[in-house]
Amino acid sequence: MPELRQDRFTKEWVFVASENIQHPQELVVPRARKSVPSFDPNCPFCPGHETRTAPEILRVSSPKGGWTLRVIPRKFAGLSSELPEHNFATAIEGFGIHEIIVETPDHSLSTALLPEPQLLSLLRSAKARYDEICLDPRIAYATIYKKHTVEGSGGLEHPHSHLIASQVIPPPVAGRLQQARRHYGQTGECIFCAALQEELDTQSRIVAATQHFIAIEPFASPSPFCTQIYPRRHMANFGEINAEELLDFARILRTILSKFYSGLENPDFTYNMRSSPVANAGVNYYHWCLHLVPNLPIPGLEQEGKMLLNPVLPEEAAQFLREVRVEQAIPA
Ligand SMILES: [Zn+2]
Ligand SMILES: [Zn+2]
Repeated sequence: MPELRQDRFTKEWVFVASENIQHPQELVVPRARKSVPSFDPNCPFCPGHETRTAPEILRVSSPKGGWTLRVIPRKFAGLSSELPEHNFATAIEGFGIHEIIVETPDHSLSTALLPEPQLLSLLRSAKARYDEICLDPRIAYATIYKKHTVEGSGGLEHPHSHLIASQVIPPPVAGRLQQARRHYGQTGECIFCAALQEELDTQSRIVAATQHFIAIEPFASPSPFCTQIYPRRHMANFGEINAEELLDFARILRTILSKFYSGLENPDFTYNMRSSPVANAGVNYYHWCLHLVPNLPIPGLEQEGKMLLNPVLPEEAAQFLREVRVEQAIPA
């Protein structure tokens, strides 16, 4: 029986488990493991090719020499980091900051396979850059974004992620913020904290939980295995995370990426940080999360007009991901 569910944070409606109900395991198609070398002579992100990129902004040095992580400005960014002199309300020239985090010197590793200390280093570096970028008075919103494809993202298979910041707040972020503010005005509570408490009470959509974080399948999940990681402590902005929480965040992120890798056959996926705009850091009504979406080849999945159709019940997707054992399946 199809069910129409409304996302309480966006008010969007989603059909879940529509006519051709699919069980999670039906969506997992075995994928041939592509052999990727740890060094590619043509890759600008591989060690020894540092001069092929713009000068780096941040480097984490390796005790063995060389580096373990680099942050560089994007060479062919669509946004200019020079603010144009003349702006018009409806035609703001693209001002923004776009940086690339090269996550490891090893060309062959996917983010899901990074050892925990390296994933922590990635998050620490991302936060250091995020904090600094948000100090720029021209910046209204910043996010951390990752697109993983087996064929390589933007022609580059070397593991990397993006920091993107701009002078405007994207409409979906502004929409979520508005709903959250309205809910707070009516009830005096953070809508996300309230939803997390309900998830903890029912347990049915929880994929993983750690001391400081909870990973869930959203109630009105727009696509199969869409997963959100929320801090348990109320925090509007990613910049508010402390050192202990960052370590725990690395742990739960690695768990979820490993479950995707092992349980869903190394799928293409994206994630993005849904943090508050800079001006709303510290507010009582908004709560950040990391939003992860595996991109599975699903026959019949369509978006009709603005109506989303998700063939899998979020509760079944959560159970499936909970049961994926990751410790044994991930190569060392
Ligand atoms: Zn490379
Ligand atoms: Zn909250």
